[in-house]
Amino acid sequence: MNKTEQYIKPEVYYPDEDIEKVKEKGVLQYRSERLPTWCPGCGYFGIETALTNGLGNLGIKPKDLIVISGIGCVGRYPFFIRGYGMHTLHGRALPVASGAKLARPELTVLALIGDGDGLGIGAGHLPHTIRRNPDITCVLFDNAIYGLTKGQTSPMTPQHQVTRSHPMGNPDPKMNPVLLALSYGAKYVARGFAGMPDEMQRLFEEGIRHKGFSFIHIMSPCVTFDKVNYLYDNLRSWVRPLPQGYDNANLDKAFDIARGTELYTGILYEEK
Ligand code: SF4
Ligand code: MG
Repeated sequence: MNKTEQYIKPEVYYPDEDIEKVKEKGVLQYRSERLPTWCPGCGYFGIETALTNGLGNLGIKPKDLIVISGIGCVGRYPFFIRGYGMHTLHGRALPVASGAKLARPELTVLALIGDGDGLGIGAGHLPHTIRRNPDITCVLFDNAIYGLTKGQTSPMTPQHQVTRSHPMGNPDPKMNPVLLALSYGAKYVARGFAGMPDEMQRLFEEGIRHKGFSFIHIMSPCVTFDKVNYLYDNLRSWVRPLPQGYDNANLDKAFDIARGTELYTGILYEEK
């Protein structure tokens, strides 16, 4: 057996008891023969687990699923999941996902975008996809940096942060993705943290169930190229559960939460 063959054999990496646990959840059906190549500790592993657990819980079969990505570390995701998949151009996951939904409306369509990919290069597609309201679940994998290209400032990098493209500090303020989505009329807007898989799973399941466009912003550590901002400990101390009694059908309240400085996680808004 050569090195490549060893690499794609999951049983080399998973102890038997772990495989049994995964099988019980029905998640193994979503494993492709390729293991994720993200850096050890990357938040994307948590997102991947929550997403496949959610798909398993909803009973969506790989044959009924299409996962579409752009470019970036999240761009590789369709290789790691069993189902239909397209690794498209930088920033172009949303128009391709819209086309897929038009052609195959019976499929569950996931558009997975990065912060540089979806809020920088492909930012123009987000408002137009939102206003057309196709039944697509869009997950923003936000690591607040360009990870694949090794640590440049992204639209989610905080102002003044030193990065490889801004050694004197980022001069620009960062974007606010949930406010953007609400402003253009998204009818399902949620926010989560890659270190909280149970909550993420709920956000994904509800987002997939929601008929129409759902936008789910996940903050996720890039352990290799961000040593100061989206660290697990930082994010854990920044995130907050939504206030007691919060009514997520109230658009005005959702705008208040989105404009505020507190990082509330959960379903910020859903039009019923
Ligand atoms: Fe994850 Fe960052 Fe590595 Fe990309 S570069 S796989 S985002 S840790
Ligand atoms: Mg990024």
